[in-house]
Amino acid sequence: MRQDPEACFAAFAASAIPVTRVPDRPSTTGCETENAVRLPSVLRTIPASPTLSCPMAAAWTMFERHGLQAAARTHLGQEVAGIRHLGTQSCRNIGGGTVRSQHATANAIDIAGFILRDGREVRVAPDWPGSGRDAAFLRAVRDAACRWFRVVLSPDYDAAHRDHFHLDMGPWSSCR
Ligand SMILES: [Zn+2]
Repeated sequence: MRQDPEACFAAFAASAIPVTRVPDRPSTTGCETENAVRLPSVLRTIPASPTLSCPMAAAWTMFERHGLQAAARTHLGQEVAGIRHLGTQSCRNIGGGTVRSQHATANAIDIAGFILRDGREVRVAPDWPGSGRDAAFLRAVRDAACRWFRVVLSPDYDAAHRDHFHLDMGPWSSCR
């Protein structure tokens, strides 16, 4: 799917999950938007309707259904009703370097928190450290994300990720 956008859209069409395409936006600086959609999540998304590449939307759909909710049921006894994210699209490089971030092409999302059915919110910061059930849930979410995304960076990776999970479908592979 990462190499073949039409296969990605065909997979959504076959699954009967409706997706809203975002018009392509060219760029001469490595910040183009191509084959993007509005995140087709059944969860409440704060801020609403982020733009993501089709492969990211496909990975998220599998992760949400087969990873995230299972982790919530196991560790918290209820499902997730919403997510709080810190953005998908940002025309910038990776941490001060010369390589474009996957955020430059809407091929990444940063997740800061999970809102549960009872209204409570589990946040990467401050809930990641510790040994309680919220921390266990967050670790299970990180581990599950590694099944579906190419790169998953948690607070275990570095201080820049102390308050969010970075998920992307770029060319590298990492689960930290
Ligand atoms: Zn990120």
